[in-house]
Amino acid sequence: MSFQPTNLAGLDLRAEIDRLRKERNAVILAHYYQKPELQDLADFVGDSLELSKKAADTDAEVIAFCGVKFMAETAKILSPNKIVVLPDMDAGCSLEDSCPPDAFKAFRAAHPDHIALTYINCSTEVKALSDVIVTSSSAETILAQIPRDQPIIFGPDRHLGGYLNRKFDREMLLWPGVCIVHEAFSETELLKLKAQHPEASIAAHPECPPHIIDHADYVGSTSGILQYARTTNTQTLIVATEPHIIHQMQLALPDKTFIGAPGADGNCNCNVCPYMALNTMEKLYIALRDLEPRIEIEEGLRLAAKKSLDAMLTMASGTIGKGDLGGR
Ligand code: SF4
Repeated sequence: MSFQPTNLAGLDLRAEIDRLRKERNAVILAHYYQKPELQDLADFVGDSLELSKKAADTDAEVIAFCGVKFMAETAKILSPNKIVVLPDMDAGCSLEDSCPPDAFKAFRAAHPDHIALTYINCSTEVKALSDVIVTSSSAETILAQIPRDQPIIFGPDRHLGGYLNRKFDREMLLWPGVCIVHEAFSETELLKLKAQHPEASIAAHPECPPHIIDHADYVGSTSGILQYARTTNTQTLIVATEPHIIHQMQLALPDKTFIGAPGADGNCNCNVCPYMALNTMEKLYIALRDLEPRIEIEEGLRLAAKKSLDAMLTMASGTIGKGDLGGR
C-alpha cells in the first residue's frame, strides 16, 4: 500500500512519532541514506548488516524501518513475530529490480556446480534461491571463507562482484545489475573536484563502477567509510556514495570537511537515492499510527530466505566451517 495523503497540518510530527514509538513499543531503524530528520529520530542508524542484526535482536513489538523494501523484508524474515512497517512501500531498489526471481532461478539452473553468493539488495524470492547473502561490509570476510575451487555466482551488483573478483583474484560469474545512484558518479567531475582539493582523500562504496573505485584511497561499506573518516589524518574527504551519509560524518566529526562526489552535471544531487527519498516524517508518523504499510511474507518463502541470511550472520562473524557450504 502506498502513502495516502492525510491532513497533518498543525501536528508536531517529532513529538507524535515519539509518543507512538512508546505506545506501540516500536523501534525505529534508519539506514545511512535516509534524510537527516529521519536519521536524527531513529533509535539506531546503520548499514544493511548492522540493521539486520538490530532487527534480529530487538525486543520491540514493532519495527518501523526507514530504508527500502528489501531491508524491511530482511527485518521481517529475521523477526517474523514482530510487526514491520515501511513508511512507503514503493521504496524499492534498482538492484532488486534488475534481478527477477524467475530469471535468477534459470541462471542458477544453468550453472548447477556454482553456489550463489548474493548481495542483500535483492528480493526475498532471490534470497530464497541463494546460498549465502552478503552485505558490502561482510562480503570480503565471507568470500575469504569460500574455497578457491568452488565456482560462484555473484548477483545482483556487477560492480561489487567485479571489485571482489579483482581484489581477491576470483572469477565469480556476475549478474549484470547496477545501482543507479553509484552508477551516476562522473570520473571527469571527480578528477576536477580532486584538482580543486588536492589534499582531500577519496572514499568510495564498492557499488561504484571501476573508473571511480580506481581513484579511491579507501573502498568500503557505508559503516566502513564512516570509520575511515574517523581514522584518516586528512581533514577533507570526498565521499562517493549516497550523500545522506555525510550527515552522520558531520555529526561525528564537525571539524572535518566532507564533499559529496559529483555526478555528470558537476553536483551530487543526481546521487540522492530516489527510493530512499520516498520516506518522510509524515509517512513514518502514519506508519506508526496505522501500523501500515506492513511487510508480510509467506512462511515457506520466509524460511527458505532465512537460510541464506543465517549463513551470512554466521559467516560474517567468521565461524562457519569449510564443509558448511555446498552447491544447490
Ligand atoms: S542507493 Fe542504490 S543500492 Fe541503495 S537502495 Fe538506492 S538504488 Fe538500491
